[in-house]
Amino acid sequence: MLEITEVGHSSDPDDCMFAFSGGNAVSSLRLPPQEPWRRRELITQLGQPLIEVPIGLWLGKPCYAVEVSPDRLDPIEHVTGNLFSLLGRVSDDVFAAFGRGIQMLSWRRDHQFCGRCSGETQMTDGGRALACKACGHSCYPRLSPCVIVAVTKGEKLLLAAAQGRRAQFYSTLAGFIEPGETAEAAVAREVREEVGIEVENVRYFGSQPWPFPSQLMLGFYADYASGEFSLAADEIEDAGWFGRDEHPPIPPEASIAGQLINEFFRRLP
Ligand SMILES: [Zn+2]
Repeated sequence: MLEITEVGHSSDPDDCMFAFSGGNAVSSLRLPPQEPWRRRELITQLGQPLIEVPIGLWLGKPCYAVEVSPDRLDPIEHVTGNLFSLLGRVSDDVFAAFGRGIQMLSWRRDHQFCGRCSGETQMTDGGRALACKACGHSCYPRLSPCVIVAVTKGEKLLLAAAQGRRAQFYSTLAGFIEPGETAEAAVAREVREEVGIEVENVRYFGSQPWPFPSQLMLGFYADYASGEFSLAADEIEDAGWFGRDEHPPIPPEASIAGQLINEFFRRLP
């Protein structure tokens, strides 16, 4: 698995590399599935990376996320796929490394110049920060914390269908935490805004990095307190209370939404 730690610049041929091109993960058909590239193989097959960012240690080896040129991709030698398509298909460890890699690469690409004085930036702090060469202003990777909440009422769970949803399932409610807001307050506000009810007894469940593009999902349970459904028409198409044996299709357990739902139903007597 990936150990997130400071890793400096390296050019060791055994360095591990998670490769991307135009937002898609790039794997080699010559390598065992789920293994990162080694630097020597990557350079031989795909050339020097266009961008390279340290992301930690993979099985003790320095590990990097790299952007490679699409010109070198060969459909016979290489597999490309978007990150979402890997969810649940590769191990959690590999998915986490790809997820961290794509976020660190887009951060590097989007902050080549200082937001304060427009000077050029360079990596500092073992790859954890970008600092402006001119004014010294530092910029760290941006995470967007979100709450995701399973609201319960006795043995039933609130599940909602989002407007314009691509997937045909009902899920828990979720939304971004506002600046200055606690996660617990965000839970109550999101539920009120999306379905019009009040909740109480908000309690933490667990978290999941969700790199689409840079969320950190904080999962909670909350109990129904009061109110009738009043759906936010632009966000929620349908919502209802569902029991263990009578619910619509739900998200896969690879997502924290699926975990929240399944865990609640599993714990019922
Ligand atoms: Zn600057």
